Amino acid sequence: MIRIESDPWAAMVAHAREAYPNECCGAMLGVIEGDKTVRVSMPLENAYAGAQATRYELRPEDLLAADKAAREHHMDLIGIYHSHPDCDAYFSKTDLQNSCPWYSFVVLSIQQGEFHHANSWLPNFDQTEAAKEELIY
Ligand SMILES: [Zn+2]
Repeated sequence: MIRIESDPWAAMVAHAREAYPNECCGAMLGVIEGDKTVRVSMPLENAYAGAQATRYELRPEDLLAADKAAREHHMDLIGIYHSHPDCDAYFSKTDLQNSCPWYSFVVLSIQQGEFHHANSWLPNFDQTEAAKEELIY
């Protein structure tokens, strides 16, 4: 289970709405004590060079910086979030290919510029499928 506190959740939704009609992406920082709790969200730049309406890309150095920031605040990098403009919060084949099995992947569905729903996904180690994780926000 992953729980996102209200401040990071509001920031993630705001980020996803701002980026619309493009995809946004960012890091989720927090603590893992049995369950995962996201305390801080960190917006990161969508570095994808093509059409960003259907794709996002994270720079490895941005992820490393997020990981470092988490550790400086005695937290962990728990996962990655990104948005799906005018699309359901499913985990696409591309999302799977670009995933890492040790993170939670939260997808926010933004429909016509407004938040619609969200899901969290846990990719398996082969990156062939992702299981839905209980998400509380
Ligand atoms: Zn996606």
